[in-house]
Amino acid sequence: MKMKIKTHQKSEKSDLIKAAQPSINLRSGSLTTATPRFGSTNGGDHPNPGGIKAYAAQTATASLGPFAIQRRDVGDNDVQMEILYCGVCHSDLHMVRNEWHQTVYPCVPGHEIVGRVIAVGREVEKFKEGDLAGVGCMVDSCRTCSSCEQGLEQYCEHGPVQTYNSEDTHLGGVTYGGYSKSIVVDEAFVLRVSDKLNLAAVAPLLCAGITTYSPLRHWKVSKGQKVGIVGLGGLGHMAVKFARSFGAHVVLFTTSPEKGADAIRLGAHEVVVSKDQGEMNKHLNSFDFILDAVSAEHDINAYLNLLKVDGTLTLVGLPEKPLGIAAFNLIGRRRQFAGSMIGGIAETQEMLDYCADHGIVSDVELISIDQVNEAYERMVKGQVKYRFVIDMASL
Ligand code: NAP
Ligand code: ZN
Ligand code: ZN
Repeated sequence: MKMKIKTHQKSEKSDLIKAAQPSINLRSGSLTTATPRFGSTNGGDHPNPGGIKAYAAQTATASLGPFAIQRRDVGDNDVQMEILYCGVCHSDLHMVRNEWHQTVYPCVPGHEIVGRVIAVGREVEKFKEGDLAGVGCMVDSCRTCSSCEQGLEQYCEHGPVQTYNSEDTHLGGVTYGGYSKSIVVDEAFVLRVSDKLNLAAVAPLLCAGITTYSPLRHWKVSKGQKVGIVGLGGLGHMAVKFARSFGAHVVLFTTSPEKGADAIRLGAHEVVVSKDQGEMNKHLNSFDFILDAVSAEHDINAYLNLLKVDGTLTLVGLPEKPLGIAAFNLIGRRRQFAGSMIGGIAETQEMLDYCADHGIVSDVELISIDQVNEAYERMVKGQVKYRFVIDMASL
């Protein structure tokens, strides 16, 4: 059966998910079928030998492997890109392994996409064939709600259409991400990419970059402030670079003492090994702002205690399990505990332009597509220096 989704209306969307999911036990991780939930043509009820090459996870426990997908025809406002590089975000791993209990299989991850424009629709104004371009975590939103009108598409009241694992309103099924050869996206959600920077190292800016730039800007991190970054991974290393570039005194917290020299090279003024209680105590009640980019369960109270009066701890990391907060650690100094998700399209463009002007890129380890499963294993162990990027020529 083919099911068409015509609008982004929330009720319709959630009904669809409800209707579609009882056939699988998302929590057990034991998914047995490779058929897309919506019986769509995207990924298909049938293998798609003539389709576009991609890499997909078929279940929560399987390795990623070759898969063929379809992309829609180029519409009037669409940009078609050949994907040259795609970053590997820890969110890809959370999603592939169904750690957030919402994954639809087959799942083609990837939302740090850079490439070259190979076709544009008749109405497209920002891009022409041959331009460099990027796509991040969203490919559409309702565009009319108050969040969208403020340029906060990531907080769209109807839910943004994510680059992967969202309903595909064009082909049915779910959207498929950047571990693939090409993608078609409305130009409103395509970013301009400078040719001044190393393109592979630009890819992670589309998620790790904007996810750290946005909260650092929102909480006005600047000269004279003491700022902590927790976790030196993909997000953390970009946060160190931005916080330093914005003029703050930057302290990096890590569980990996061997990353200390890198942290300094990346821009931290100080490095604290978070397992060392004596070192942690030296920083009690002293931070204006802390950005927590840790992917796994950890003690958040240890960081709340480092904030001074009116200081803010903002979470960008998305561990699978809830974090426990001791109320006294908030009330005693009117501390604030907050969260932030990626950034809007205009702010993402601002961030990319800022990076081009200031020569900021990610530190990347380029891998071929067949190394992606190994890369996931290293990511779980915190052994990423500091972002894997897939060279799509290898697909
Ligand atoms: P990553 O590259 O794997 O880095 C995570 C870092 O967290 C590790 O390098 C490690 O740093 C630290 N860490 C890992 N396990 C830990 C543990 N058990 N205890 C303490 N520290 C630990 O991941 P990423 O791609 O930067 O993503 C980080 C998190 O942000 C993920 O949960 C991801 O899903 C989420 N995310 C959120 C958004 C958003 O919009 N808010 C966007 C993208 C990603 P050290 O070795 O230095 O300790
Ligand atoms: Zn991401
Ligand atoms: Zn909206």
